[in-house]
Amino acid sequence: MVWSTPPLGAEETTMINPSLFLDTAVALHGHECPGLALGLRLGAAAMNTLGVARDTDTELLGMLELGDDHCTHCLADGVQVITGCTLGKGNLLKLGHGKFGFTLVDRATKRAVRVSPRAEMQEAMRKSPFFTEYRLKNVPFSEVPAQVVEPLIRNVLQSPEEKLLLVGDEQRLEIPKRAQSLATFRCEVCGEGVAERYGRLSGGRRVCIPCEASLSHE
Ligand SMILES: [Zn+2]
Ligand SMILES: [Zn+2]
Repeated sequence: MVWSTPPLGAEETTMINPSLFLDTAVALHGHECPGLALGLRLGAAAMNTLGVARDTDTELLGMLELGDDHCTHCLADGVQVITGCTLGKGNLLKLGHGKFGFTLVDRATKRAVRVSPRAEMQEAMRKSPFFTEYRLKNVPFSEVPAQVVEPLIRNVLQSPEEKLLLVGDEQRLEIPKRAQSLATFRCEVCGEGVAERYGRLSGGRRVCIPCEASLSHE
């Protein structure tokens, strides 16, 4: 299959082109889907905003807001492929919010940007046959006909950025160095070890996230 790539203006020639990463992304992911393409766009938008190259040695940090077992989770693999922030290197975090935003941080300069899909775009996607005739009927991704899924993928890859994504203002984010992030403490309620930056204060006690949630229901 040949994907047409969007024309690049002269001023954009150093920009990351998400279409060029599709084949690699599909090889990693196992099937073609619009969520995967959306991850490529999110990653590219964040990288192009910060002007950073693909990660090699964890100089970048990515933060996904995805939870578990929900739609469009596939975008995580597109983000991994294009940014080089990966599960294996430990520099792609999942925040568990059940949202689709992605924040990329350049650790050295502490520059960061959050990008997210426009809700209108996601709502339009949910009205497409891909969603109503296949996803809602639990048809496996790989069994969705190419003529149904490929136009959606092309649309995601080639839509103007302002129609597809919200790109936030550049922020400064201080991210602890890797060695520091290995620190742990013991939750004062369950007694289990917790990675330090996931600690919460509840009633003066230093606790883990599940204990904070159950304390708030008492
Ligand atoms: Zn997928
Ligand atoms: Zn606990």
